[in-house]
Parts: sequence; structure tokens; C-alpha cells
Amino acid sequence: MGDPSPRPLVGVSSCLLGERVRYDGGHKREVFVVEDLAARFELLPICPEMAIGMGVPRPPLQLVLEADGIHARGVHDPDLDVTDRLLVFARETLPGLSRLCGYVFKARSPSCGVGSTPVLVPGHPSREDSGLFAAALQTAFPLLPVEQEDRLRDPVLRDRFVERVYQHSRLRDQERGSGINP
Ligand code: SF4
Repeated sequence: MGDPSPRPLVGVSSCLLGERVRYDGGHKREVFVVEDLAARFELLPICPEMAIGMGVPRPPLQLVLEADGIHARGVHDPDLDVTDRLLVFARETLPGLSRLCGYVFKARSPSCGVGSTPVLVPGHPSREDSGLFAAALQTAFPLLPVEQEDRLRDPVLRDRFVERVYQHSRLRDQERGSGINP
């Protein structure tokens, strides 16, 4: 008899599915996401920058360290600051994402990178940190398996991620069964 459980739900940066949502109207389609992961999991595409209404094409963003924390500002127009819009989107969206069993983010993005996004530090060498949406998601769900597409090109890391997603899904099923996480 087949497994009656639905496939695990995995969030994914929309551009990795081939959606033309990047600032320049392009995408970053990854074959293994579209073919391999899509065959195993139910994928939930999210583009935070489209979701806050920036549209396509839009001004490219970069992360900048300021006195009150990291901001997402326009590369060519530093007066463009979408930090609050991205954080409000995260705050409003994350409670609805508690069913996720994993997330595949686009590396080096000011919204989606996971510890890989350059942060401008005025007067100092730049450093790397997470994009604003990815950071908020990891704070909200610290145990969620999270990866970036560049790392998942390594078949060993990909297999490990897939297994962690199934483990997370099984754990959630057990919690639901015991009434911990209905
Ligand atoms: S990296 Fe994130 S914000 Fe940028 S285009 Fe892809 S999904 Fe949208």
C-alpha cells in the first residue's frame, strides 16, 4: 500500500524554478530543483522582492550594515530602503509557513541568501550574512532544513538535504499524531 501522507512541503526561491522574477527580468533555473526536488516534494515558490511589490525590472538591492542593523538598499540609489517592507512581509508570511519541511534559497541574494550575501560595511571590508527574508525564516524556524542551490549541486549535500527534509516531515507527522503540533 502506498504512503497516504502528502509530499513534504518545501519552500523555494521562485527564480530557481525558472520564474522570471529577478531584478533584471531573468531567472536562475536549476535543473535539479525543477526535476529532482519537484518530483519528491511539493514546492512552494516565494519571491520576497516581488511580494513586496517591487516588480520586474526593479532596482538591484544590496545589504548595508548601519547603526540599527542590516538594511536592504538600492545599489544605485542608497535612498531606496526596502528593509521595513521585507521585514513586514516576513512577519506576515512566516506564521503561514509552519507546514514547511525545508527551504531551498538562492545564494548571495539580499533577500534569500543564507550566510552568503555580501554586506557593505562602510569604512571596513565587506562581510557575508543572510538576506533579510532568509534570516527571518531561520529565526522563526531554527530546526528547518535550509540549503542554497549552489551547495545542492553537490550530490552528497543534496542527498543529505533530501534525507533531512524527510526526517523533518516524519517528525511533524509524529507530533501531529501525538497532538503536539496539530
Ligand atoms: S533571489 Fe529571492 S528575491 Fe531574488 S529573484 Fe530570487 S526569489 Fe526573488
